Amino acid sequence: MHRIKLFIPGPTEVREDVLEALSHPVIGHRTRDFSDLVDRVITKLRDLLQTSYRIQVVTASGSGLMEAAIRNFVERKVLATVIGAFGERWYRIAKANGKEVDRLEVPWGQAITPDLLEDALKKDHYEAVLITHNETSTGVMNPLKELAEVVHAISPDTLILVDAVSSMMGAPIDFEGWGLDYVLAGVQKAFALPPGLAVGVISDRAFEKARTVAHRGYYFDLVEIQKYLDERSQTPTTPAVNLYYALDRQLDRMLEEGLEARWARHHAMAELVQKWGTTYFDLFAERDHRSWTVTTISNTREISVAWLIEELKKRGFLISNGYGQLKEKTFRIGHMGDLTPEDVQELLINIEAILGLNG
Ligand SMILES: *Cc1c(COP(=O)(O)O)cnc(C)c1O
Repeated sequence: MHRIKLFIPGPTEVREDVLEALSHPVIGHRTRDFSDLVDRVITKLRDLLQTSYRIQVVTASGSGLMEAAIRNFVERKVLATVIGAFGERWYRIAKANGKEVDRLEVPWGQAITPDLLEDALKKDHYEAVLITHNETSTGVMNPLKELAEVVHAISPDTLILVDAVSSMMGAPIDFEGWGLDYVLAGVQKAFALPPGLAVGVISDRAFEKARTVAHRGYYFDLVEIQKYLDERSQTPTTPAVNLYYALDRQLDRMLEEGLEARWARHHAMAELVQKWGTTYFDLFAERDHRSWTVTTISNTREISVAWLIEELKKRGFLISNGYGQLKEKTFRIGHMGDLTPEDVQELLINIEAILGLNG
C-alpha cells in the first residue's frame, strides 16, 4: 500500500499500533467489557486533561458536538463569533436549529479581540457565546483565555461554548481556570486518531442549564448521554466500539508523552513552519494569533498550489489547499497529532526542492 503522510489539518497521521488496536474483535456495547473500556478511556482522559468536569466521548465527527452544544445549552439566543469557515459553520448550525443568532465577525486572518467582544456583550444579553479556539481555515488561534475573561466580567451568566476541534491536545486549554463551559473536539485532529469520535468537556453550570433546556433532541442529548455514562458506563446508542480501543491505546501514549510536552512539540512545529513560511512566502494569520496546529501560508509567489500538492503526493506527503475562498491564494500545512519537528523539516525540504527555492 502506498502510504502518504498527512500534513493536512485533519484527519492526521495515525500510528501503526493505534491502527492495529482497531482490529480488536468487535464486542457488544451492552457488556461488562465495553463498560470497562469506557471507564478506562474516561479515567485516562481525566488524567490527561486535568479537569473534574464531565467528560463525554460521543460517536460523531466534531460538527456533531457543535450541534449538540446548540441543542443542549441554548434555549433562544446566542452570539456567534466568526473568524473563518468553522465559525461560519457554527453560526449556520445555530440558525438551522432555529435559534436567534447574532454574529460578531472580523476579516479572515484576524482574531476576535477582547474589546470587540466586550462591546457586543454590552449591547445585548446572550445565553451563550460561541468561540472557535483554533480556526483551521485561516490558521488563527483566538485568545481564548482573554475572551473568556471578558465574558465573565461583562456577562457572568453567559455560557462559553468552545470549538476546540483542532486544538485540544495540541495547544493549552485550561477548562476550569479559564471558566469555559463546553469544549468540544474531534479525535481526528490533534488526538491523532481515525475520524469517528468526538470528545466534550462540560462545566457543572452548563450541565445544570442543559437539564432545563427543552427539545435537546435525541442523538445528542448530553443529559441522557451522561445518565448512561454515570449509571452503567455505556452510551444510549451503538458507539464506534473499535474506535474506543484505538482511543484507549492512544491515550496511553499521550499520558506517556505528557500533555505539556505534547503542547510544546506542537509549538515547536508551528515555529518551524511559521519561520519557513515567512522566509519564502508570507503568513495569512496576524502575528500575535498564529495557530499551534496549522499554518496558513499566503501564496505570495503565485505558484500553482494544486500542482505543488500533486508533486508532493508523488513524494509521499499531503498538504492542503486554501479553504473555500482561500483556495490557491493560500495553502495549509497541518502540524498536529503525532508528527514531529523532524517530520515537518522533511516536508519543508521537499517543498523547497519542488519549488527550486534553494538554488
Ligand atoms: C475539522 C474542524 C471541524 C469539523 O469537524 P468535523 O469532524 O469535520 O465535523 C470543526 N471545527 C474546527 C475548528 C475544525 O478544525
